[in-house]
Amino acid sequence: MTISIALFTQDLRLHDNPVLHAARADGGQVVPLFVLDPAVEAAGFAAPNRQAFLADCLTDLDASLRRIGSRLTVRKGEPAEQAARVAAETGAASVHVAAGVTAFARRRETRLRKAFGDRLRVHEASLTVVPPGRVTPAGRDHYAVFTPYHRAWQAAPRRGVLGAPRTLDTPEGVGSETLALAGPFSPGLPRGGEARARARWRRWGVDAYAEIHDDLAGDGTSRLSPYLHFGCLSPTELATRAGEHDGEGARAFVRQLAWRDFHHQVLAARPDAAHRDYRSRDDHWHRDEEEAEAWRHGLTGYPIVDAGMRQLAHEGWMHNRARLLTASFLTKTLRLDWRIGAAHFLSLLVDGDIANNQLNWQWVAGTGTDTRPNRVLNPLRQADRYDPEGAYVRRWVPELAHLPGPTVHRPWLFPAPDYPAPILAPEDLAARLRHGRP
Ligand code: FAD
Repeated sequence: MTISIALFTQDLRLHDNPVLHAARADGGQVVPLFVLDPAVEAAGFAAPNRQAFLADCLTDLDASLRRIGSRLTVRKGEPAEQAARVAAETGAASVHVAAGVTAFARRRETRLRKAFGDRLRVHEASLTVVPPGRVTPAGRDHYAVFTPYHRAWQAAPRRGVLGAPRTLDTPEGVGSETLALAGPFSPGLPRGGEARARARWRRWGVDAYAEIHDDLAGDGTSRLSPYLHFGCLSPTELATRAGEHDGEGARAFVRQLAWRDFHHQVLAARPDAAHRDYRSRDDHWHRDEEEAEAWRHGLTGYPIVDAGMRQLAHEGWMHNRARLLTASFLTKTLRLDWRIGAAHFLSLLVDGDIANNQLNWQWVAGTGTDTRPNRVLNPLRQADRYDPEGAYVRRWVPELAHLPGPTVHRPWLFPAPDYPAPILAPEDLAARLRHGRP
């Protein structure tokens, strides 16, 4: 009997999973395998919040597989070695895996290729809607500007949405290991897994998205990012289902999925953009560990910035508008290196993702793909606009809960004894904003 390995990576789901679908289509038994790679830990990428979410995802995937007659095998070690070991134990002839974009995923693929040769099948359009490199501008290997990319992305042919398998035959007696967790974890961390992801998508309504996505206190975005990062939901399925709704909300939401693909295709073409400036502008970053610490701990004295940073610490997640303004505050106002901020985000974000995090940081810092790299977000104006009643700040900065309405955004004008003075005097903030980037 043919036996195939479905090697799960960032596609921890049964629905619309090209890897699982193809392994099953080989016609025999399938070994669903996930490998916990110590290299991810060694690289500092196995942040406790993401490991906790991953543990939920693996438990949920195993439970779903058991419902259809199968089970998940979890192994620890170098993925190609582990896949080869499982292949030797079971007599599996082929391995299916999703194409990844990070340098890490490419190394894994190279090693799998070495171990399995043409018995390795790599599936595109698993982690993104449009595979990186599928649409390119004339003479270049990737788009560096979002608007033309978005046009090409919309016109690109898409694969159909695949159903979840109803049955899956798996060989008996393949041993499995478990994921050991070590905190500290954010107390308000969301729980992972495909079942929760699908329930959230069903509960959440896309129709009002265009109007409410920037309202910090309203908190009305989908919060699907961690499920997309771990692949509990397929971006192709989301784009297709959202596209069935006609209206501004659905269009705006699908556009965000295109942003996700955009950053993936940039990283696929320029893996070094994870650490190096995508477009160097000879920045001379200021060094000040005390300022960086105040920012990390939400103690800058600018309530809207501190609220975002405290939401991140508490939930392992932050609203996009808050990500934008806290990142702008670090890089454009305090003039600290974007890598400091990106590393802190990655240490906590449950959706922490090399493509989305590093390239959004670069976009904000002006070293990335923003066509207006000198753009600076004024934290006070952002606060007045996106938290007009101050409710977001009062939710996350309890020392200021006594300040009513928008007065909470300027605590230095009122008695607020338990809250720090601004790290940068408001007059100096105004001057820095006038001068623009470092
Ligand atoms: P929604 O508004 O409901 O959007 C739906 C989906 O579209 C998101 O789940 C996400 O997958 C995608 N998306 C939305 N905005 C963006 C964007 N700007 N870039 C890429 N994809 C987007 N997103 C991550 O998934 N992981 C990260 O590590 C990450 N780091 C970021 C760092 C900074 C400095 C900034 C400014 C943004 C970052 N983002 C990151 C993008 C964005 O903030 C989050 O995807 C979004 O806030 C997640 O919330 P949501 O699921 O409710 O999004």
